[in-house]
Amino acid sequence: MKNITPFSHTINKKNRGELLNQKPFLLWMTGLSASGKSTIADLLEKKLNSLGYCTYTLDGDNIRDGLNSDLSFSNEDRVENIRRIGEVGALFVDAGLITICAFISPFEEDRLMVRSLLSENEFFEVYIDTPIAICEERDPKGIYKKARSGEIRDFTGIDSPYESPKNPDIHIETHKFSPEEAVDIIASYLVKKKLIEKG
Ligand code: ADP
Repeated sequence: MKNITPFSHTINKKNRGELLNQKPFLLWMTGLSASGKSTIADLLEKKLNSLGYCTYTLDGDNIRDGLNSDLSFSNEDRVENIRRIGEVGALFVDAGLITICAFISPFEEDRLMVRSLLSENEFFEVYIDTPIAICEERDPKGIYKKARSGEIRDFTGIDSPYESPKNPDIHIETHKFSPEEAVDIIASYLVKKKLIEKG
């Protein structure tokens, strides 16, 4: 971009991470609506906090209620939604925090774009994999019903596509594991990667 020269601040991500005694990174949860992203993100954040880690969760509807309240669910706006969240997520990581993002993020290209904003060992894609029939049965917000009746359009999995991750860092099939077991799977992965000390 013209006439823009980013300033390199003296205090950086490494300093902030050291002060917080943690390695900052971003866990990106992707999956259908009602697949369990928020539920698992919430339990995981509770666990990480109890272990002494500083975290922040960016969650779909919360962001759409504020920062991205100007965006629709058209393909174009979905791309912009994820672009902004990716940038914000990268800033939270830069602030030294363990950051959890829970967004449907249906397009592979957008998820790859977010990955490209972070360094290796800073971005981990977590595929919250739940068959649509089960999501529809759960339907905690009643939105599948609305999508089926045509009240809601461009609904992922019904009349808008979901591109499954081809090579997620962590793959959780929620019809096989409880939310608590899902959190244990993620925590074990983080321990194995030496991102946290114990899970
Ligand atoms: P999302 O954030 O992906 O839209 P939510 O977490 O809001 O999904 O909703 C998932 C719903 O499914 C919750 O009501 C949760 O209690 C329920 N659920 C049932 N089994 C599981 C499981 N194994 N993992 C995650 N959520 C589950």
